[in-house]
Amino acid sequence: MNNENTVQELMELDKKHFLHPTSPISQQQENGASFIFTEGQGIYLTEMNGQKLIDGMSSLWNVNIGHGREELGEVAAAQMKKLAFSSCFATFSNEPAIRLAAKLAEIAPGNLSATFFTSGGSEANDTAYKLARHYWILKGQPNRQKIISRTKSYHGVSMGATSATGLKPFRDFNTSIAPDFHYAENFSTDSLLEVIEREGADTIAAFIAEPVQGAGGVHIAPEGYFKAVRRICDEHGILFITDEVITGFGRTGTYFGIEHYDVVPDMMCFAKGVTSGYAQLGGVMISETLHNEFAELSKGTLLHGYTYSGHPMACAVALKNLEIIEKENLIANSKQMGEVLLEGFKKLQQQHDIIGEVRTLGLIGAIEVVKDKQTNERFESPIVPQLVSEAAKRGLIFRSVVFDGQDTLVFAPPLVITPSEIDEMVNILDETFTAVG
Ligand code: PLP
Repeated sequence: MNNENTVQELMELDKKHFLHPTSPISQQQENGASFIFTEGQGIYLTEMNGQKLIDGMSSLWNVNIGHGREELGEVAAAQMKKLAFSSCFATFSNEPAIRLAAKLAEIAPGNLSATFFTSGGSEANDTAYKLARHYWILKGQPNRQKIISRTKSYHGVSMGATSATGLKPFRDFNTSIAPDFHYAENFSTDSLLEVIEREGADTIAAFIAEPVQGAGGVHIAPEGYFKAVRRICDEHGILFITDEVITGFGRTGTYFGIEHYDVVPDMMCFAKGVTSGYAQLGGVMISETLHNEFAELSKGTLLHGYTYSGHPMACAVALKNLEIIEKENLIANSKQMGEVLLEGFKKLQQQHDIIGEVRTLGLIGAIEVVKDKQTNERFESPIVPQLVSEAAKRGLIFRSVVFDGQDTLVFAPPLVITPSEIDEMVNILDETFTAVG
């Protein structure tokens, strides 16, 4: 079968049998996949027809060390040959999981020192809510079961994570939302205080926030916000959880996003960049204080665990991934290249009337698309999907956010990106804005 026939065959099979995550289902059924990727190298992905595209999103904000890293394949193969799987239930353990937990304790902020492993970010968040609620039961305050999150937040799609997600369309998808989730206005400590006042501090288990909101449109916290959040949580006895699923492992130019704000959470969720997407892994880190309290107060079993908690192959891949991040100074590169990317965005802003605010923090960034720069007026119907498809034709993939009255382009290229590759990205964006604007 020649390549053209294989593409046709795969397109038909994809339309008929593959229900894609977060997909425009009718469009998908009618037109099939827009790209069927076959290879990746560095910041580039190649699809079946041979087109090479810059992966301006590190796929799903996760391929931090870039595509095609053979070292990770080698580590995965070696671990699978030696011990592909053994359970970590109860008191069983394995070397990669132990070493990864110890490595995470070394790099995490403050006294975050113990890790509960999951297979991804949603499970990590659900675990954090369950641990927080269980903690208060152990502490003799069983009424503290409410979780507060924020508008525009995204925490995943399992029941708890969807319930915590502030982006309403995700919650409106169906009605199976867990009780006891409440939302404070984004970046407003007044609103957080109002929710605490309204619900009663003695009913609240935890507050969760992404250090930089990703899926909600790359929103960066104003100066002082997280310090105030930490203070408010302490004053009201509320646990503070950070969701570092996107912002962890160098994405924002520091190991973890919350480090920008000089604040230490009680729990920290992570996933994605911990393996750069080479294996499915996530987890929650808890502080030494919480860990000791759990051990002291809990008389029974921690009745929460996934089959793949502490998967040896995934943990071995994560260890190698972290070694590469450190050896290749990718955190420093993220910081520097984030500044180069911002310069590029600013140049585009001067050249194109429909570019409003631009922002980056490390290698996560956004361009706001506006009808009128002076008033920030939006287009009547979003034009960012058009920008996304025109850029893809020219060899660049990124994402658009059209929730909550936003018309935003979001970017998160691999941390290995170079200045000339950023130039390539910016040139494609320039041509794209010229074509659409
Ligand atoms: N939290 C944040 C901040 C995320 O961006 C995501 C996914 O994009 C998740 C949680 C959910 O992670 P997963 O898709 O691995 O379940």
